[in-house]
Amino acid sequence: MAAATIIDGKHFAARLRAGIATHVAQLKTDHGLTPGLAVVLAGEDPASQIYVRNKGLQAQEAGMNSFEHRLPATATQSELLACIAGLNQDPLVNGILVQLPLPSQIDPERVIEAITVGKDVDGFHPLNAGLLAAGGTAMIPCTPLGCLMLLKAYAGELAGQRALVLGRSNIVGKPMAALLLREHCTVTIAHSRTRDLADECRRADLLVAAVGRAQMVKGDWLKPGATVIDVGINRISTPDGKSRLAGDVDFTSAVEVAGAITPVPGGVGPMTIACLLLNTLTATCRQHGIPIPEVTPIPE
Ligand code: NDP
Repeated sequence: MAAATIIDGKHFAARLRAGIATHVAQLKTDHGLTPGLAVVLAGEDPASQIYVRNKGLQAQEAGMNSFEHRLPATATQSELLACIAGLNQDPLVNGILVQLPLPSQIDPERVIEAITVGKDVDGFHPLNAGLLAAGGTAMIPCTPLGCLMLLKAYAGELAGQRALVLGRSNIVGKPMAALLLREHCTVTIAHSRTRDLADECRRADLLVAAVGRAQMVKGDWLKPGATVIDVGINRISTPDGKSRLAGDVDFTSAVEVAGAITPVPGGVGPMTIACLLLNTLTATCRQHGIPIPEVTPIPE
């Protein structure tokens, strides 16, 4: 029998979205404001199209306005920058998200830097990254924010716990490490050059894996009772010739050792979109000088 608590991110995210919807309705009643999220998609990438549709639908379900801007795969950088400039000026748009990856002729850094910092609901703008690192008021990238919420809910008091963040990307690993440091964890960041990775993992009370290597972290790499957050989304082949999604953690062996663990799918993924909505609500309040509400998942 599995030892670990399975962290149901899908359920947690649904409760969080319900909490967000309550505050969105309140904002409308008290201030006549409806948060607006604009999602920009350039090109025809099928996965990106699904993500964009889901983001729009979930924004609407939470009572927000959703605006979708589609540009062809041949769009130039100037065209995309002109679209961003329009959204920056639009008072009905409180949050702007540019779906990545972008077509190869467009420089994603230029595009992200063009988004007004306060509307950067993905939290990828270098100023937001700097504010997070320096302990300021930043827009926090959605995936690490979702991971932190799960850790707070399932790992008890975070202060003083030993955390290992596996991966050092700008969108997951680095902001995750900054957030855990802010929570007073003792943080180690591991990456492809780390020596004795299994030993590093075994010391961690909290492990966040964001490497993009299917089932790399084995159960015997874990400290018994550790809380494991698996960010990885990898597609692997199954014996029947089909494929399925797998995380960066070998769930079958890890579930026997961990204290709590997120599955893939159904763990971190749903939290990412819920946190995008949370950031859009936060951005709307900040833009209008309204105190940021304390949004909590609504109990059943
Ligand atoms: P990146 O490819 O940008 O970063 C991967 C990191 O993992 C790098 O720091 C790299 O090290 C490290 N790494 C790679 N191989 C190894 C290895 N063998 N041993 C130790 N470290 C290694 O990925 P992302 O951060 O963008 O994404 C990571 C995973 O999370 C992916 O599977 C992605 O699909 C998923 N993801 C899921 C999201 C969700 O909503 N659930 C959202 C975002 C991402 P180095 O820096 O040395 O190269």
